[in-house]
Amino acid sequence: MSERKILILGGTGEGMALATALAARPDCHVISSLAGRVANPKLPPGEVRIGGFGGPLGLADYLRANGIAAIIDATHPFARRMGWNAAEAAVQAGVKLLRFARPAWVPQSGDRWIEVDDWDGAVAVLQQDAKRVFLALGRQELAPFTVLKDIAFVIRSVEAPDAGLAFAQAEVVLARGPFKFEDEHALLQSRAIDHLVCKNSGGSATDGKLQAARELGITVVMQRRPARPDVPQVSNIDAALAWVQSL
Ligand code: NAP
Repeated sequence: MSERKILILGGTGEGMALATALAARPDCHVISSLAGRVANPKLPPGEVRIGGFGGPLGLADYLRANGIAAIIDATHPFARRMGWNAAEAAVQAGVKLLRFARPAWVPQSGDRWIEVDDWDGAVAVLQQDAKRVFLALGRQELAPFTVLKDIAFVIRSVEAPDAGLAFAQAEVVLARGPFKFEDEHALLQSRAIDHLVCKNSGGSATDGKLQAARELGITVVMQRRPARPDVPQVSNIDAALAWVQSL
């Protein structure tokens, strides 16, 4: 069987898992593409390229020049641009495209979610009656919340927030997931949190905070996933591998 070149748009656990599975197959030549945002990224098996393509036209050129048979877009659900670039480039270059993403979280019985499209929407919600707020966000996403001077924030992020951010009242908790339900429950309860702000990343590594919020009656201000182009989509690796098999 001839070797097919598969381009994975990665930067996620899904991209890593897929590259690992495909790199072991003799009928596939897998190329993982990373945006290059992280200084020392963990590299997936197989070929890896790093950096942007130069928009959809640049990606289409890359697909043609490298004889790519198919693209799997495994970028993060909150990567706003790349999925659209991939859809446009795939049409231009006549290459098949699959979206592979973990399912979004959906509210369950007992949840008190308020969904917003962006952080300005979250600020508007918090302005109404929030007093003690847990921000489970990236350090680059905090600035919009600094206008809320009457709210006591607990900020959890992987890296320390910029010291110049003008929060009136903020405690910083530096931590990297996965987070266990028991620990999330203890943290939210000990800080008497009334609102939790996060993005709908999906997956099990960070959903403990949602279970804890449900039990504690905490309102969750959830940023919805951005819109994606209408392309074939799978949410587990077996389905992604079956799609590759069908090419
Ligand atoms: P984005 O808004 O969708 O993409 C912005 C630009 O970055 C794209 O136009 C493209 O540049 C380049 N790019 C993005 N993903 C790429 C990839 N896999 N390979 C090569 N170039 C890529 O994405 P983002 O939010 O900046 O995220 C960048 C990367 O970090 C993504 O790969 C994503 O999976 C990962 N990530 C993002 C988040 C998040 O919350 N946004 C979280 C975890 C991981 P050109 O137009 O020049 O091709």
